[in-house]
Amino acid sequence: MSEPKENVLMEKIVSLCKRRGFVFQSSEIYGGINGFWDYGQLGAELKRNVKDAWWKTIVHHRDDVAGLEATIIMHPKIWEASGHVATFADPMSTCKHCKKLVRFDQVWEMIPENAWAQAIAEICPDGLVESPALLAWAKGKGKHLAPNLALVRNPEVTLSFLAARVDAPDATRLTTKELYQYLATEQVGATGLQTPCPHCGGELTAPRPFNLMFKSHYGPVESDDNVCYLRPETAQAIFAQFKNVHETARQKVPFGIGQMGKAFRNEVTPRNFIFRSREFEQMELEFFIKPDEAVEALAGSVAKASDNAWQGEPQADWGWEVWHKYWVEQRIRFYEGIGLTRDRFEEYWQKPEELAHYARACVDILYKFPFGTQELEGIAARGDFDLSQHEKHSGKPMGVFDEELRAAWGKLDEAKKASMRAKFVLGKTAAFLKKGADETEAAQQAEAEATVYFDKLAKGQYIPHVIEPSAGVDRLILALLADAYSELTTTDEKGKTETRVVMKFHPRIAPVKVGIFPLLKNKPELVAKAKEVRDLLRPHMTVFYDDGGAIGRRYARQDEAGTPFGLTIDFDTLGEKPELLDTVTLRDRDTQQQTRVAIKDLAGLLLPKVR
Ligand code: ATP
Repeated sequence: MSEPKENVLMEKIVSLCKRRGFVFQSSEIYGGINGFWDYGQLGAELKRNVKDAWWKTIVHHRDDVAGLEATIIMHPKIWEASGHVATFADPMSTCKHCKKLVRFDQVWEMIPENAWAQAIAEICPDGLVESPALLAWAKGKGKHLAPNLALVRNPEVTLSFLAARVDAPDATRLTTKELYQYLATEQVGATGLQTPCPHCGGELTAPRPFNLMFKSHYGPVESDDNVCYLRPETAQAIFAQFKNVHETARQKVPFGIGQMGKAFRNEVTPRNFIFRSREFEQMELEFFIKPDEAVEALAGSVAKASDNAWQGEPQADWGWEVWHKYWVEQRIRFYEGIGLTRDRFEEYWQKPEELAHYARACVDILYKFPFGTQELEGIAARGDFDLSQHEKHSGKPMGVFDEELRAAWGKLDEAKKASMRAKFVLGKTAAFLKKGADETEAAQQAEAEATVYFDKLAKGQYIPHVIEPSAGVDRLILALLADAYSELTTTDEKGKTETRVVMKFHPRIAPVKVGIFPLLKNKPELVAKAKEVRDLLRPHMTVFYDDGGAIGRRYARQDEAGTPFGLTIDFDTLGEKPELLDTVTLRDRDTQQQTRVAIKDLAGLLLPKVR
């Protein structure tokens, strides 16, 4: 079986999704709506299976995680406390010529995808400037492909600045990016190098922050007093309900709360099919842990992440670093469990300067999508930022009381307490310095925080810290579609070749688990037996009964839908060969091998494979 080339793979996947009912454009009959997608009959099943797998793994199969299902619209103060009202924004620019909006930090990702940029890259391979060819292009095809590019609007002047750059005595070789910038700039001296609009090559305005939250009003009156937002993430409800779940689920820290559901972001440029949309679903876990000082007081020391302890079962001496690594590993194991191999992932550990001010560490789990290696899930160690913010903004205590900690703290010797405090003050001072405080201020604020914090610890009180694995359902669906896609070319006895699609979904997430085919539809005994088999399996797994057309065609249709198993009911099933009475042919999608199985054994054989 051959694997299709990456750049065409996306087109093939999008077309298959429409053809077979995995994903449709939302509101298609009205021309569609950008950034919104609907899941069709196969897609809805696939999505449900993915979400079930997550829920089972994260919530049902663990003693230390509880589930939550909160509302999409919540009190607007939640989004003030979380920082989303003030800072949940992307840099947005407008093209002064074609008026299209673009996300400024994605412009350089988008430019090479456009025909005008590809044409220029072909004319000037490796940044080697071919001025006459550029001039000819500007006066010909360029007029249609990039009408607002400086090179097209004013070729001679634009090329003269480029020539000055290239012919300078100490000139270094141009990068492709620099080449595009020169070709987008008419007067380098006056404006500096410009970044072209990816669509038409025109000039972009300076980026300005654009808040991604969808805003609305609750109740009949539209005023500032009843503003509300569609949630841009599911996580905040977990923090807001932390106390309720902690008390009613009778959980003790460390424990987690998982939630999945819709999230909404008014993305400036939704793109790459369901990878970045405006309405999508998330699967998020907030796993609450004790602060390291509490762990040290209780367990005597904090385990080191370098000891590889995170590969095993959780232990009482795990601090945030080990818990963080543990969750990264758990999440990759989850992906492996639904058929994505480890070599398709990369971990990107954010550098200290890239981290949000409250985050201690953050790793992006990247997946090799057909259009590039990009984020599938983020796993952040967020300290006690979120619960503290909600405590501050709501005025309600968010901390927990731990009697064992109070008792252990009473037994700690003074030297240990002093060394913990010194370490805490050092860390806090650095954080205040990073936020812009001067040295004296930073030291004073750190000491003041230490006094409050250690007084509380001594009483057995603390605000839990959190590790947050946050995954996107739709991005995972796209990863699974891309991973499953393969093509099979066959040649028949007349030498005619045919290429068809086989979606190799892991049986756990395949939309339909078993196709059921009576050999002939005009033989009532075969049909009745096939329906008996269908009714036998249907309570346990999704089945698809198909009696239309040649058996080979029916197999092919199910291969394209990604159905891992096919059952054919033939005359032997009815006892033509007495020893084969009440047996069926079981066909495996991936090996195409067929075996004979007794009907009574089917459920027992198939269930462990599809669950
Ligand atoms: P990106 O940098 O790609 O915009 P992000 O870092 O803002 O993503 P998070 O806020 O960490 O994303 O959200 C967690 C997960 O939610 C992401 O890893 C992704 O799988 C999913 N997600 C975020 N935004 C979108 C979107 N617009 N469309 C589909 N899925 C999304």
